[in-house]
Order: sequence, then structure tokens, then C-alpha cells
Amino acid sequence: MEAVSREVKCAVCGYVHRQYVITSMLTCGCYLDLRPVEQIKALISYEIQRCPKCHYCALNVSEKVPNAEKVIKTKEYVEQFNCSKFPKLANFFLCYSIILKSVNDYAKAGWSCMRAAWVCEDMKEGVIYFPPKIDFDLMYTIGREDFERIREQVAGEGFDEFCDAIGKEIKKNYNPEAEQECRERAFAFFMKAKKLGQRFAKRKGVEEEVLTDILRRLGKFDKALKMAQEGLRIKGIDRDVRLALEFQIKLIKRKDTSCYTFDDASKFFDEEKF
Ligand SMILES: [Zn+2]
Repeated sequence: MEAVSREVKCAVCGYVHRQYVITSMLTCGCYLDLRPVEQIKALISYEIQRCPKCHYCALNVSEKVPNAEKVIKTKEYVEQFNCSKFPKLANFFLCYSIILKSVNDYAKAGWSCMRAAWVCEDMKEGVIYFPPKIDFDLMYTIGREDFERIREQVAGEGFDEFCDAIGKEIKKNYNPEAEQECRERAFAFFMKAKKLGQRFAKRKGVEEEVLTDILRRLGKFDKALKMAQEGLRIKGIDRDVRLALEFQIKLIKRKDTSCYTFDDASKFFDEEKF
């Protein structure tokens, strides 16, 4: 993946500022909720922009979602933007989902909430997002004061020690409830999208697989099992999707809420066979 910094003009308030823009992306496999795998984990912070002046959050702030100027002034949006339950970066994704909801784009709103969930989830492992220095709030999932305090604490030590200390602070701030709430919101949006015939995944059975994964990760095993079975009833699904759904059923039966990849699913059945 590559990202370059560009001068952009906010489509809502006209403020000209710099943002990082992803120019190319390589993905090699993904998790069962379609998140791309490890090596590009930290790059999620490039997938949202927020105008530092009016707080408009979008994939691309130089493009306006209709009526965004009204939505960003609503109580719901302002409260979400400042909500201390979530890391700031997750709030930006959640704010974008509020804007998308206002134009009834439930598929994209769901994915924005999923990204917020991934940001929260990364904190469990102390993942540090290290983009260049344009926007502090996109770099760290901890507050600026905590960041400065740690920087003082490890002053004179090496970069590794600094990263270590920041990673520990991020882990300390991990909030499982925040992660769950993002997944719940994503689920609600995806279900609404499904009902309205808005596709949120292209291939057959993948939507059911993603929904199964969300339910399983939330520990809602009965509903997850039903969703996986619904997916398996779809005719003409690809082999990897079928394996993922069958793998989900195995995970559900052992009440496993951990994170797995599509690769794990095929490996599981390869090993079982031999
Ligand atoms: Zn703006």
C-alpha cells in the first residue's frame, strides 16, 4: 500500500488542509469479517478523513455527501464526535456512518462501523498506527496528553522503548464494550441494507458469512448458527465461502469468539481430512 499527502479542500466548509490519500493497496487474504490481513492493519487510519475545522468525517472530505453540512450539526453527530467511550479514530468512522445513514446508504454505513470495530479491536493488541505526522488523531488511539506524558517518561531512550510504552498505553485503554457496540451497529446497518436489497458484499453467501462472524464475535451463538445455515442454503456459493461458513459452525459449537481468517478455514478442513 502506498499513501501520499495531498492538499484537499473540505467540501462542507471549504477549509484547505493536508490529508493522506491511499494510492494503491495490495491485499493478501482476509479475516472472516473481510478485514484485510495483518501487514496492512495499521493502514486503517488512512481510510477516514476528518476536516479539522468543521469536523466533517468521510472517506474523502473533498467530496460532499448530500446534506452533510446539516448532519454534522446534529446532536447525534456532535456527541459521537466527542464520545469518550471510543478512541477518536473510531469516532470518525462512526460519525461517517451517521452521515451515510442520513442518505440511507446502510451498506457503507455498516462498513464504516466495522472499521470502527477494528480500530477498537486493535487496541487489545496495542497496535500503533504510524502514519506520517499530519493528523495526530489518526495516528494514535490514545489521547494527546497520554502521548506527551509517555514521551516525557521515555525521553532519552530509543524508538523501540518509546513504541513499547505507547503500545502498552493503547492496550490499557482497550474497551471491549466499545468494540462490541461498533459490531452491533454494523450488524443493524447490514441487516437494514439486506432488507432493502443494498448489497454489502459482492459474492454469493459472503453477506451471510460476515453477519455470522459479527454474531459469533458478539457471542450470539444461536443467531450466528442460524445465519451460517442460511448462508449454506444458498445455491452456487464458492468453495472458500462454503468452507468459511462450515468453519463458523465449528467455532460456534465450541463457543469461540476469536478472530480468524479465510485461510484458517481452509487449513482447518485440510488438516481434518488428512
Ligand atoms: Zn470542513
